[in-house]
Amino acid sequence: MPSESTLNPHPIAVLVYHQIDAAPPKGQPFRSLYVSPQAFARQMALLRLLGYQGLSMTALLPYLRGDQHGKVVGITFDDGYQNNLTHALPVLQRHRFSSTCYAVSALAGKTNLWDQTTGIAQTPLMTAAQMQQWAAGGQEIGSHTQNHVNLPATPDADCRAEIVRGKTDLEDFVDRPVDNFCYPYGQYDARHVAMVRDAGFATSTTTQRSRCLSGTPLLEIPRVPILRSTSLPIFWLKIASAYEDRRKK
Ligand SMILES: [Zn+2]
Repeated sequence: MPSESTLNPHPIAVLVYHQIDAAPPKGQPFRSLYVSPQAFARQMALLRLLGYQGLSMTALLPYLRGDQHGKVVGITFDDGYQNNLTHALPVLQRHRFSSTCYAVSALAGKTNLWDQTTGIAQTPLMTAAQMQQWAAGGQEIGSHTQNHVNLPATPDADCRAEIVRGKTDLEDFVDRPVDNFCYPYGQYDARHVAMVRDAGFATSTTTQRSRCLSGTPLLEIPRVPILRSTSLPIFWLKIASAYEDRRKK
């Protein structure tokens, strides 16, 4: 029985991005979640220059378990925006990096409808065909539930359905296993961890800020946010130093 906790001897940064695109005009909410294609390209080039390999959660798992060693960074994208395919994929391929994009299965080809009440601009999400393109391009699709639900605010039976069907929907779309999950809004409790485990996921990521230290539960992996304001020196500090490890919420 493999361990349910990480045994990595050195901290591993799992980066989280949302949109890879020019930010909307000033005054719009959550502009911080847009990283420009140019900044993203510089960040990936720096990783490569420093000898790091960018990996999907599946490819990262042996490193998290301590079975493999090396300079690695996890790369994740939340929500499944089309601009990940158009702007991030060519850069990832240039460096032979893999990554995991967490998609919302029932909203494939639609927009980030869950953000409507916050005033965040509506942006196209990948269609099933685009998710296939993403996977064919050496990247991975992970699950972010069927409808981007706030799990603790949702009845248990509905949570279970969202977690299980989000996985099977996406497996139908990309015709390969979907073994990695991400809690929408970073919201969950012990019941949801159990549901994610029962559904057969190998890893699950949160919005807790830290690099992944040894002993971290594989179904509650913290991440390192990369934002519009993240300069290249700070990007490096977030990966190579304890900069984020003190920011646990
Ligand atoms: Zn999300």
